[in-house]
Amino acid sequence: MILENGTVRTLEPTLPVTRALAIAGERIAGGVGTHETALATPDRVDLGSRCVLPGFNDSHVHFPTWALAQRHIRLEGTASLDDALERIEAAAREVQPGRWLRGTGWRSGDWSPTVEPTKEALDRVTGDTPAALMARDYHSLWLNSAALAHANGDLEVAGGVVERDERGAPTGVLREECAWHFRDLYVRPTEDELVEASRDGVRIAIARGVTAVHDKDGWLGALGVWQRLREEGSLQLRVWQSLPAEQVDELAALRIRSGFGDDLVRVGYLKAFMDGTLGSQTARMLDGSGVQITSRETLAEIIRSGAAAGLPVAVHAIGDLANREALDAFEETRDAWQPPGLRPRIEHAQCLAPEDIPRFARLGVAASVQFSHAPSDRDLADRFWSGKTDGAYAYRSLLDAGALLANGSDAPIEELDPWAGVCAGVLRTIDDRAAWHPEQRVTLAQAVQATTVNPAWLARDEHRRGKLLPGFLADLVVLDRDPFELASEELPRVQVVATMLGGHWTHNPPPWE
Ligand SMILES: [Zn+2]
Repeated sequence: MILENGTVRTLEPTLPVTRALAIAGERIAGGVGTHETALATPDRVDLGSRCVLPGFNDSHVHFPTWALAQRHIRLEGTASLDDALERIEAAAREVQPGRWLRGTGWRSGDWSPTVEPTKEALDRVTGDTPAALMARDYHSLWLNSAALAHANGDLEVAGGVVERDERGAPTGVLREECAWHFRDLYVRPTEDELVEASRDGVRIAIARGVTAVHDKDGWLGALGVWQRLREEGSLQLRVWQSLPAEQVDELAALRIRSGFGDDLVRVGYLKAFMDGTLGSQTARMLDGSGVQITSRETLAEIIRSGAAAGLPVAVHAIGDLANREALDAFEETRDAWQPPGLRPRIEHAQCLAPEDIPRFARLGVAASVQFSHAPSDRDLADRFWSGKTDGAYAYRSLLDAGALLANGSDAPIEELDPWAGVCAGVLRTIDDRAAWHPEQRVTLAQAVQATTVNPAWLARDEHRRGKLLPGFLADLVVLDRDPFELASEELPRVQVVATMLGGHWTHNPPPWE
């Protein structure tokens, strides 16, 4: 197949642009002009001045959770508690007897008047239907009395918080480990539910130009979900999968190392958590605030046992202290993970002390960030991290210091939409306001690199994915225009036209209008 009459951006600095691209089977055969025209009957696709980029790789997505959340009641954008309750009441009427009412997306910081949610408020609109509503950042869970009854008062877990009223009774809000423990015990979806939702989710993702994801839902059994989708032929993207750090001994016993799998689904890395989040005010900060989920010492042990088993670690760190301790742990374990060439990463790297910024590059720890978080968190960050936002979402500083940046959506926290993420990285705004901390804007080339080349490197695929070079897999996206020819304010207008995975069109095959 020959794609011609367009602008092909290869992402390879020595040959950045070609006018055409030849594809043979699942791989790129080369630019056009040499022997490709001698192919028997090449299938010619007229790009009509459109632009081809390597397919997008979302470096941080909770895919099955996001896919399932497409079917939940969504509380994003609710302006008050009453506003949220109104939506919940309507959804509660639809729930079949014996089922859970599941929802997501609330953020009490967005509500006016300022108020924390309670079980009593929820009881009034849900009655006996058990209801579990995740906060937008997934670090707080709002439950009604029917839901709480499942736990029989057994709610406390180390590393978590049970919010209580003056009388000591649970208010209905659980945070961190308490929230996740409750969800995992009582509100966990079945594998069938996850497979059904993810099948639809794959279609949504590929329509947005996605050809690969680094998934974070290993704890939820995502590996089983992907395998079922692959068996039925509906897995049309490549997966680099996390597994919980707690399972390192089982993985070691089975000799399952990073890279195990096939071209579509691979075991990637261990996932651990240092702290909470900005929105829940549980990010662990140098000023002493926040919640510690994993200590520096424990993380160092995880990194060592992971390295012995051939598995790199990705650790969630939001607060400046959490990030410092994560970097400390990677530094003191270098002798374990550097010689085997493991590629560790810090997820989010959201608030950094200035002196810690150069450590990412120095150590060789990647910053797995979410460009879209900066503009969507700006009000909360200005409020909760006032005086510290110079080192918050400091993507440009990280790049200038030589760090490897990978971009993800953190869906369902933000929408799974890589192009929206690229725009957020370049513009640092998603509304009418001026850029937030414009000095941290990245260039379009840097944003695209963080969404294609760098995630492929993290998955040890730098010789077969992420660029459009001969011998590489033909994973690509066709855009309606060349974003590199546009003024940056125009970038959000760019549309995905079509997506190809391994030489097959997965979304909107040509010809195009
Ligand atoms: Zn996440």
